[in-house]
This record gives sequence, structure tokens and C-alpha cells, in this order.
Amino acid sequence: MSAVIVTGGGSGIGRACAEALLQAGRPVAIWDLKPSPLHNALSVEIDVTDTTAYAEAIEKTRSLGPIGGLVHAAGVARPMAIADLTEESWDFVLDVNLRAQALLTRALLKDLQDVENAAIVGISSIEGLVGQAFIPAYCASKAGLLGLTRSMAHELAPIRVNAVCPGYIDTPMLGNATGGNEDYLSAFRNKSLAKRLGRPDEVAAAVRFLMSDEASFITGTHLVVDGGATAVDR
Ligand code: NAD
Repeated sequence: MSAVIVTGGGSGIGRACAEALLQAGRPVAIWDLKPSPLHNALSVEIDVTDTTAYAEAIEKTRSLGPIGGLVHAAGVARPMAIADLTEESWDFVLDVNLRAQALLTRALLKDLQDVENAAIVGISSIEGLVGQAFIPAYCASKAGLLGLTRSMAHELAPIRVNAVCPGYIDTPMLGNATGGNEDYLSAFRNKSLAKRLGRPDEVAAAVRFLMSDEASFITGTHLVVDGGATAVDR
């Protein structure tokens, strides 16, 4: 089976995706700012916004065999009110969450085109579908990722390109965003119909499916994994 690059695989959802793909028998390279926490994945320490580092990272990843997949889970939130928005903050969030997926796909194109059944999954968010105050750049990046998904699916077929939109998932990012504040956490739990946070492995199961041949007729779309949070009007 061809290898998969998981950006952001050092933590949270990305790490769970890497674990799920390894369990499915795929060689996995974790591309993250920090070393891989998984001993059975190839660790590639990289800032995914640094396009000048791509060639070396891709060369290293090819040691796993042909590269047939990309999961872009590296992401940052950086909450900010529009009134306080700085150009640097906007660019920081958009660069990691959105621009990196486009430029990384460009860099990997030949590898992916040489492999049968290649697939890409981007980790968007329910905040790419509905609005949330004080994270304008994050919402824009995640909505942008859905547009990028559809455009790339059209252009790059037969490479399949999809996205997953998680709801509130129990990861370090969510912990940082809430500062451990129990009122916020409780509000997030209550948004899901299951009245709990999602687990990273519950998102990873959707990603593993979309990356697999079982999803061979699924492209240019997104799968919401939010415990029903956006299914109801309240
Ligand atoms: P996390 O903070 O636990 O993990 C993010 C990982 O991305 C970290 O390991 C970090 O080092 C890495 N990363 C960040 N910037 C990077 C860069 N420039 N280059 C390389 N690696 C970088 O966060 P998470 O909650 O697991 O989030 C993963 C993805 O899921 C993100 O795209 C996030 O927006 C999305 N998401 C999370 C939630 C949630 O509730 N946790 C909900 C919806 C979507």
C-alpha cells in the first residue's frame, strides 16, 4: 500500500489519523513542527508553511515507498476579534490551515499521479460551515478549505479529494482555546446531540474511510463528524 503524509500528526486529530492509517497497513510519514509521537511512523520535522523545505521532506518520505495520500491536519486557531485583527495573525492562520494544503498538493502532484487510487483529505471544521465569533481567520480558512477541496477534486481526478468537518473534539487545541474553562467546555459538550466532546479517533475513522478504496466513488465533498451539533437549529 502506498504511503500517506499526515501533517499535524504530532498531536490530536492528526495523530489519531496517523494511528488509524498505520492500523490499516499504510506506511505513514508525520510532518509536524515536533517529532512524531509514534515510533512506527516516519518523523519529518517541518513547518508546513515553509515551501522551501518541501523537496527534502518529500525525498525523505519517499523512503517509505510511493506516496499515495495526504491528510492535512496541521492547523492553528488563534482567536481574535475583527477589531484586533492584525495582518500577521490573518496570514498565520490562513497559511497553515489553507495555503499549505494547496502548495503541498502542488509539490506532491507527480508522486500522487503516479499512484493508483491516490487520495487527499483536508481537515476542515464545522466552523467552515457555520459562523463563530472571534475566530474570523479560522472560519475563513476552514470554509476556504472546502472550496479548495471541490476545485482540486475537479482538476486532479482520478485523485480523490475530500474534507472532514469535525465538531468539538477533545484535543490540545480545544484545551488551549478554552483555557480549560469549564463553562466553555460544558457549552461545547452540549452542542453535540451526544452531550460530549468528540474523540480524535472518531474523526480519524472518517479520514481512514475517505482515504481508503471503500470511498472510491466519493470525491469533492465533505463529511461532518460533529455528533449532530450542526444538524439541529438551536
Ligand atoms: P492540535 O493542536 O492538537 O494539533 C495540531 C498539530 O498541528 C500540532 O501537532 C502542531 O504541532 C501541528 N502544526 C501546527 N502548525 C504547524 C505547522 N506550521 N507546520 C507543521 N505542523 C504544524 O490540534 P487538533 O485539535 O488536533 O487539530 C487538528 C486539525 O483539526 C486542525 O486543522 C484543526 O483546525 C482541526 N479541527 C479541530 C477541532 C477540535 O475541536 N479540536 C475541530 C475542528 C477542526
